[in-house]
Amino acid sequence: MGVPVAALVTFEDGSKQRFDDVAVTSELSERALVELLYDYTPDLVPCSPLAQDGLWRYRDLLPLEPGPVTYPLTVGGTPLVASPGLRQASSCRHLWVKDETRGPSGSNKDRATALVLEHALRRGHQTVTCASTGNVAVSLAVGAAAAGKQAVIFVPADVDDSKLSVMLFCGATVVKVRAGYTAAFRLSRQAARTFGWCDRNTGVNPLTVEAKKTVAFEIWEQLGRQVPDVVVAPVGDGPTLCGLAKGFRELVACGVAERQPRLIGVQAEGCQPVKRAWEAGAPRVEPVEPRTLADGIAVGDPVSGRLVLRDVRESGGGFVAVSDAELLEAVRTLATKGGLLAEPAGAAAYAGLLRALEDRLVSPDEQIVVLLTGTLLKTPRFLRPASVPVEVEADLSAIERALAGRLAD
Ligand SMILES: *Cc1c(COP(=O)(O)O)cnc(C)c1O
Repeated sequence: MGVPVAALVTFEDGSKQRFDDVAVTSELSERALVELLYDYTPDLVPCSPLAQDGLWRYRDLLPLEPGPVTYPLTVGGTPLVASPGLRQASSCRHLWVKDETRGPSGSNKDRATALVLEHALRRGHQTVTCASTGNVAVSLAVGAAAAGKQAVIFVPADVDDSKLSVMLFCGATVVKVRAGYTAAFRLSRQAARTFGWCDRNTGVNPLTVEAKKTVAFEIWEQLGRQVPDVVVAPVGDGPTLCGLAKGFRELVACGVAERQPRLIGVQAEGCQPVKRAWEAGAPRVEPVEPRTLADGIAVGDPVSGRLVLRDVRESGGGFVAVSDAELLEAVRTLATKGGLLAEPAGAAAYAGLLRALEDRLVSPDEQIVVLLTGTLLKTPRFLRPASVPVEVEADLSAIERALAGRLAD
């Protein structure tokens, strides 16, 4: 089952031939058309109840009135990847990567956007707003386009150019705020109140955490209804980690899980207000001036800072901070050893795992999940190739000369 048993080959002159040994087809002329055949039975068609409905699978645990979901994009249901290369590189035998880059706009923000816009559709809001260091804005621009809503987005003036292009391309109205993200956040909230817009601001709109908690449900289901030992997640404003914590808490509350995983929060060395508060044992988070190239976690005054401290403490976890150099190294390792494309903030959890192993917050034989939160493809400035392409005339001997000594076999 699932293995081709024969190949039907159509040659250039139109003649057809069946090969029962599928392996021979690789020897055929390059112009032959090869179609693989299977031992067809109804069993080959999957019939598992896992529908392609993403996070709506958990609608009984989401604040959603009865009635059909009309938000058109599929969000959630992201893969939990077992990467042999990353397991080897990190020496963690039971490492899993929850690939949250697989949303409509390439970041974990798409879950929150989906739930907020579903509400906006039901309530008849025409305009939605958010402030964002980049990914929330792109996500809302994409989602609003899908839902037929107008997005008004507030970003810091130093927002990533390629992310800005995506927002504008999708038809959002973008406001650059010179005073930075925290000021943009306040302005967006004021505008929402004054003009009656739907407010998708992270943390303050509870729907954002509700949507993000579905990541925990998925991890648990994907591990065969088991809770991992540790989950490592980046911390910017905080709802990503708080959502995870809430999801696992609810699984325990539902009586289907016995415990929560330890949560490790990862911040950038140049912007670690929550980790500082953790180390000082301080009840609240003192704002800092963010200095990191990882825009997704460049949040100097995190909206959910206190909640993050509480959730990490309750889980028995901890915090690490990583340098920009470590973030860029993680971006490279994820791509070259895992085939996973993450921007610096998106790669922070992997960088943080390496740090947490060094700090002995995590042990390599535990079952560990790291969250990849944003794709590299939206921030091409971080694609820094380590080699140059080989250019040849179109003949094989030139390739042979050019590649001499480069390849393993
Ligand atoms: C938003 C974001 C984060 C941080 O999430 P918070 O919920 O703000 O803590 C991390 N990585 C990426 C790529 C993000 O876009």
